Amino acid sequence: MEKNYRAQLVGCFGDPIDGNPTGVMEEAAFASCGLNWRYLPLLVKQGDLKDAFAGIKAMSFEGLNLTMPHKIAIIPYLDGLSPAAQIIGAVNTVIRRNGGWIGENTDGKGFVTALLKSGTELRGKKVTILGAGGAARAIGVECALAGAEKITVINRNRQRGQALAQLISGRTDAQSQYIPWNGSVPIPSDTEILVQATCVGLTPNCLEKPDILYDTITPNMVVCDVVFNPVDPLFLQEARKRGAATVSGIGMLVQQGALNFTYWTGLEAPVDVMYRTLEQEFTVSR
Ligand code: NDP
Repeated sequence: MEKNYRAQLVGCFGDPIDGNPTGVMEEAAFASCGLNWRYLPLLVKQGDLKDAFAGIKAMSFEGLNLTMPHKIAIIPYLDGLSPAAQIIGAVNTVIRRNGGWIGENTDGKGFVTALLKSGTELRGKKVTILGAGGAARAIGVECALAGAEKITVINRNRQRGQALAQLISGRTDAQSQYIPWNGSVPIPSDTEILVQATCVGLTPNCLEKPDILYDTITPNMVVCDVVFNPVDPLFLQEARKRGAATVSGIGMLVQQGALNFTYWTGLEAPVDVMYRTLEQEFTVSR
């Protein structure tokens, strides 16, 4: 049989992109499954998105990830959107299907999967989210689609916070409310799942933690962080001191990467390999 030396290509467009760890995890997954696939982190400036996307189509890429500043700007170039990506209004993954290019958002789905794997159900739960940026939006919508009863959004910027609460109550079955974030904010006492979805605490600012009243975290709460570097941010350490169970951002990152792997290759992702690779990456580079 004739040998096939051509690698299947996927990648990520972003600016900045140099510090993005997704490729390390996806390439470890490809290697562990014996696939001749490559994941290329690609520096694509804001004004170059159209040309860059035409380029990867011309080079027969299998799919793509998008990060800042392209998650919304890519939408006009796509042939369709998944229902969740349509509600969220942002795309982090592009999948080639039947000759068309479909936009999906796996950030929130990765979060929901990581939470479920940690043993926490969302159906009927009251969720509080700190932040209203891209990650918070994806998580809020997917928690609502997974059956959460109520989602409270706490954010500094009123417009962004209100917009997310309105999006959730307008487009899903969950109720949602916005609480302004002025100084040390208390966590609502009915919270069952608390999600830290801001960038506070991310390396190199790993000595920082969100300005909340930490003693309003109670042992019955499951407390999650989207920050994955460091693997155990101060926020989660403080939550554990108050008796809460915690779920780290690395689980979300791995699960969204695993979903992308499956969307692109059609195979089950080697989640353990992906997790170990990332954990080692952050431990070594810390
Ligand atoms: P955005 O820039 O879209 O949003 C940032 C959010 O953080 C805003 O709501 C902003 O509030 C809030 N914020 C920033 N600084 C502070 C502060 N000092 N106090 C309170 N709120 C603050 O970023 P993303 O949503 O895209 O990313 C957020 C984090 O999520 C990043 O750390 C990113 O690495 C992580 N992430 C993790 C993923 C994973 O798989 N684990 C996947 C995707 C993202 P305001 O609106 O008031 O300005």
